[in-house]
Amino acid sequence: MGRLQNEPHFHSKNKMKNNLLLKNPIQALIATEMGQILELPGFEMMGRSGDLYRKPFAEELSPFPENALENFLPNRVPMLWSSEKGPQPIEKSARETYFPTAAILPVGYLRTLLPAAAPSKRNFLPQWAYTAIGISNGERVCACIKIESSDRWENHYFNTPELQLKIEKRLSQNPQNRVLKQLALCASEYHCNTAQNIFYGRWEGALPASPVCNAQCVGCISLQPEELPPSSHERINFAPTVEEILNVALPHLEESPDPILSFGQGCEGEPLMAAATLEKAILAIRAKTLQGTLNLNTNASYPLGFLKLCKAGLETVRISMNSAIKETYESYYQPKGYGFEQVIETAKIARDHPLAVSINLLTFPGVTDREEEAEALLKFIKDTQIAAIQWRNLAIDPDQYLQALPPRKGQILGIPPLLNLIKSEHPQVHHLSFSRPKEFFRGRAMM
Ligand code: SF4
Repeated sequence: MGRLQNEPHFHSKNKMKNNLLLKNPIQALIATEMGQILELPGFEMMGRSGDLYRKPFAEELSPFPENALENFLPNRVPMLWSSEKGPQPIEKSARETYFPTAAILPVGYLRTLLPAAAPSKRNFLPQWAYTAIGISNGERVCACIKIESSDRWENHYFNTPELQLKIEKRLSQNPQNRVLKQLALCASEYHCNTAQNIFYGRWEGALPASPVCNAQCVGCISLQPEELPPSSHERINFAPTVEEILNVALPHLEESPDPILSFGQGCEGEPLMAAATLEKAILAIRAKTLQGTLNLNTNASYPLGFLKLCKAGLETVRISMNSAIKETYESYYQPKGYGFEQVIETAKIARDHPLAVSINLLTFPGVTDREEEAEALLKFIKDTQIAAIQWRNLAIDPDQYLQALPPRKGQILGIPPLLNLIKSEHPQVHHLSFSRPKEFFRGRAMM
């Protein structure tokens, strides 16, 4: 197993880590029952990486990002570092009960450590990507690193006062179009940026296409079992027609600046389950316009259906995966009628077609950066020649996720060392947080 440990940068990282140990300890933050977030004197910040609890390294911390949200974890006990006794579960003081604190990061930031909350078998928390926080010299710090920023995803561009009017006007032009009605719900209820872009008429626009999925992800964001916290979106319950798709797609591609049309959204199942409809839609779109980029966000489970979309005119694809190891992937995706082999096959079809391939890497500290996961990911990148990794913080209760996965085999590298390892082994790979138009991958567009 110890290949990676022999890698020069792994060791240099280790040596560096010692140098990167924090000069000034980061103080711990806890929350009270009233939700107050307080510094707890005598205790330092800890973070969690899978099943490991430890103090953060300097390279894992950033100042608290603008637009990050601060909150606390109910029914959980904070694990803090006491200068006398080391790691301690600190449940309460004489006067009150304490809870672990966390941040929810804005897009563009990659989480490096989970909040140090004692593991719990009790009710799982809602679907957020909980991130460790602390305080240093009075300033909040967060266990995250910045991947990139794009002003097109800045909050001030979305949920603006004129949005509702734009939605109503568009709906009045096509009152029967179920896709538009769904996007209106997603734009106003779920505040989905790509749904809003359809009504603003710009950039990356959403186009959901499938009410069904051939996977049952533990953290599915559109369908969750009754007994678990609700999914963050309600899955569409209709199969859009080619006409409904064209009615949304053509105006977006023909009239928007830098248009991307993305099939495969959080409010649907798996778009490849609607491959027959999407094939007809893509052929019809490209018969009318060559404008913009046709993108597919997918679990890559149906190679044959995917090949049909490539031949029809699909241009970019983003493959969602939590791991490049069959066991880890399948224990999370719980696939029905396909396996990780089909994901690799689809990525290779895209490589050979060729399409610009990105992976939407559902990232989780202590899993994604396990030694064996890093090795498998490096091999996946080499075999499939992907162009980019979109680093996505996996939004799920940490204990729910870890309980679903096989135990780790090797060491945990840390998220920054993992990122550096991929950069040194595959310098051609872009590290992104947002989707890009086809021109970007052909070196003709920077945004
Ligand atoms: S692939 Fe997507 S829609 Fe299907 S179960 Fe997973 S998260 Fe849900």
